[in-house]
Amino acid sequence: MRSTLFFIVAATPAMLLAQTPGLKATPGFDLSAIDRAANPCDDFYQFACGSWLKNNPIPSDESSWGRFSELQQNNELELRAILEAAMKAPNPDANTKKIGDYYSSCMDEESINRKGLAPLKTEIDRINAMKSPQDLPDVLGRLHKTGIDVLFSFGSSQDLKDSTAVIGWMDQGGIGLPERDYYFRDDAKAADTRKEYLAYMKRLLKALNMPETEAERVMALETAMAKASMDVTSRRDPTKLYHMMPLAQFEALADSFGWSRYFAAVGAPKLDRVNVAAPDFFKAQEQLIKSQPMEVWKAYMILHLARSQSRVLPKNIDDTVFGFYSTYLTGQKDKRPRWKQCVSSTDGDLGEALGKAFVDKTFGADGKQRTLTMVRQIEAAMQQDLEKLTWMSPETKKKALDKLHAVTNKIGYPDNWRDYSKLEIVRGDALGNSLRANQFEFARQLAKIGKPVDRTEWSMTPPTVNAYYDPQMNNINFPAGILQPPFFDKTADDATNFGAVGAVVGHELTHGFDDEGRQFDKAGNMTDWWTPTDSKAFDDRAKCIVDEYSAFDLGEGVHMNGKLTLGENTADNGGLRLAWMALQTSLAAHSLPKKDDFTPEQRFFLGYGQVWCQKETMESARLQAQTNPHALPKYRVNGVVSNLPEFRQAFACKAGQPMVRANACRVW
Ligand SMILES: [Zn+2]
Repeated sequence: MRSTLFFIVAATPAMLLAQTPGLKATPGFDLSAIDRAANPCDDFYQFACGSWLKNNPIPSDESSWGRFSELQQNNELELRAILEAAMKAPNPDANTKKIGDYYSSCMDEESINRKGLAPLKTEIDRINAMKSPQDLPDVLGRLHKTGIDVLFSFGSSQDLKDSTAVIGWMDQGGIGLPERDYYFRDDAKAADTRKEYLAYMKRLLKALNMPETEAERVMALETAMAKASMDVTSRRDPTKLYHMMPLAQFEALADSFGWSRYFAAVGAPKLDRVNVAAPDFFKAQEQLIKSQPMEVWKAYMILHLARSQSRVLPKNIDDTVFGFYSTYLTGQKDKRPRWKQCVSSTDGDLGEALGKAFVDKTFGADGKQRTLTMVRQIEAAMQQDLEKLTWMSPETKKKALDKLHAVTNKIGYPDNWRDYSKLEIVRGDALGNSLRANQFEFARQLAKIGKPVDRTEWSMTPPTVNAYYDPQMNNINFPAGILQPPFFDKTADDATNFGAVGAVVGHELTHGFDDEGRQFDKAGNMTDWWTPTDSKAFDDRAKCIVDEYSAFDLGEGVHMNGKLTLGENTADNGGLRLAWMALQTSLAAHSLPKKDDFTPEQRFFLGYGQVWCQKETMESARLQAQTNPHALPKYRVNGVVSNLPEFRQAFACKAGQPMVRANACRVW
């Protein structure tokens, strides 16, 4: 239920570039990225990024490459330096020892290959020992506890209607293709994807010494699960995910499954009630448990287990998983170097131990202060924006302003660092470390049920290059990792910084009022605080955004999904407008001169556009369009600027040019 700035495949670390020699800083604004032959009023993205796009091919070990990937790459080098020092530290403290041991075990491919499937034997044997459906709850419980996504999912969440309570959350889960519609789309590409997925399962079963013939039956099982699943667009509406019920009522949805054994196996606290996000899924589960042979469950579970742990399994397993999930689905030809993969795993499993080392080394108080000042400026702009709105009644407006005033922010890193003392990391046991880390995290999540909400917790690690709004906390969050060029450049003036990081702050703040965020009040409770007329006015304005983005054509029959990306597009459009308003206030106090031939207003839009200079493979573009709530970078730029009269003015564009939309959309 969190809205992020963007969504990248893995956790993506970033940090200041000071200490490690050989690092190249990415400037906040790059004249050499501009394509002077392009007309900004015809295609602003091409103008802002054209030369960069021409000169920066996608590396063979990536599926996309953008201006901030350069920053991420530098940051990964920095994290590697921290981890290599930790590996060799003579008298490490507890956390340094953990990250060093974890990283060293992950890096030791020779040992991982030599051990073969032996480290997985206990887990595989437990699955293969199942004799009847009565054995499913214990084995599923064990898999869930170790972070393996099979059949359904169980965890904790704030109650959507009572943000002070943490409850159990039951949900659909367990399919191997990226999204439920992948099982049913009837175009040629979708059919090919299913064929490739089936072939992949056969190869993986063979590598696991299991009968390949089970792949077809696993495909049929997953297709039945997908059929009962909600699609990614429906899931953006929180009201569709809220079905609070007494535990007994939930258990009755699939009453031949031994729920009490399952809850005992995962170590759940006592539950009186749970939220069931997808009730139909559990009804289907009941039928599947009655109908599927045990051999199918075994093959299905072992496939998912091996896939999830492939990075710490022998090369033939890892290659097989990479071949389908990275090469086929995203167009990434080669694996990333091992150290990058292990930096990413350590960030995923011990993120606040590694993140603390990173913050200690790099993040200064001035970064926090300057960001806080900008947050205040953007919040003031939003207040001004809300007060001037013509389409909202005073009644709803007052509640919107109350909500805005209640938004809190977190900048940089957590005040309370996570305690990893109960997580055992053993040097040389890469698979065990991964499973124990998952177990630690699962237990941490379940332990929250029935306890007060921890408002200091972060759901991103400090080195992450991203940001988020959480509607249930009503807060905006900016990890230290994003407060760097090209997002935030200490050496740049306000014009580009407002266009880059200012638009990020505005984006997150606007999420509080997008199609999803607007369904939550100032306390983070899902409730309708809108008059019916205001609600309708919002929907009409949102529909303009849906139609605008749905028309973007990626080629090969793929279009942006305007409904899926509505919240993000609303946040992009509102965010850039708020940043613009804040810049105007700042310019009124301190005017800025023309620089490099560009007015401050033009530099503002270039600062925004250049954050998003990015290339992606066609495979990656397709995957993003079909599963990701964020539009592709080109449309995040041209889609937004073509709605803004301020852009038209800044570049003296004329009616009829492509960047001057005849029916410009505006929600906020
Ligand atoms: Zn977002």
